[in-house]
Amino acid sequence: MNERYGISPLDQQHLLFDADDTLWENNVHFERAFDSFVAYLNHESLSVAEIRAILDDIERATLISHGYGARGFSHTLRETFRHITGTRDEAQLATVEALGLRLLDLEIELIADVRRTLEALRPHHDLFLVTKGHLDEQRRKIERSGVADLFDATIVTEEKRVDTYRETVATLDLEPARTWMIGNSPKSDILPAMEAGINAIFIPHEMTWHMEHVEFAHNPAWSGRLVELGGFTELTSLFRHRDAMGEARERRPAT
Ligand SMILES: [Mg+2]
Repeated sequence: MNERYGISPLDQQHLLFDADDTLWENNVHFERAFDSFVAYLNHESLSVAEIRAILDDIERATLISHGYGARGFSHTLRETFRHITGTRDEAQLATVEALGLRLLDLEIELIADVRRTLEALRPHHDLFLVTKGHLDEQRRKIERSGVADLFDATIVTEEKRVDTYRETVATLDLEPARTWMIGNSPKSDILPAMEAGINAIFIPHEMTWHMEHVEFAHNPAWSGRLVELGGFTELTSLFRHRDAMGEARERRPAT
């Protein structure tokens, strides 16, 4: 038994995995599309930060109407371009939209050693995929990821809220104390999971979408454990080898 996290190597755990920017690269492609958008716009006075602020405002509305994903983002790009330039030129707008739509066909690039790590965990634990986004888009990514076969169940949800995790625990009949949400997003993976009374493992990704960033600190009201890891492969240490636990850092309250 590892006293620090209370995980026995012999205990079967229920591991819920985020997908985008946890299992595979995602936001970097959106950032590249944004860079292409800025280059195509070629605006003479607006700074990149100002263009980003306009896009973010439009994106907030798009998220409500279209949800997450490349289709919604292509709509955001189109609307942002129209807002800034005032153009109604359909050829230009279609060009801009295509910068987002091409994200739909990109090859899925797994983060280093994800498959090997999942294969190491699978004999000992239940693995579930819990991803938010456009249903068809996420399903296509999962199918093309090459790791779909390693999960016992896959859940695609429009948003990840506290209720999402409560429902997941109930639907899959999981024991909260042995259930862990693993992901890169404080807003979607960590905070709502902790609020729902399960454990969470934060694996930061340097390219995490800025709208998923939330400052957080441990809340004494949380019953679960919160762990921060430096990389995906450290999961095997956390859940299998007590001797390697030194690699995991317990998240300290922010000062
Ligand atoms: Mg993610």
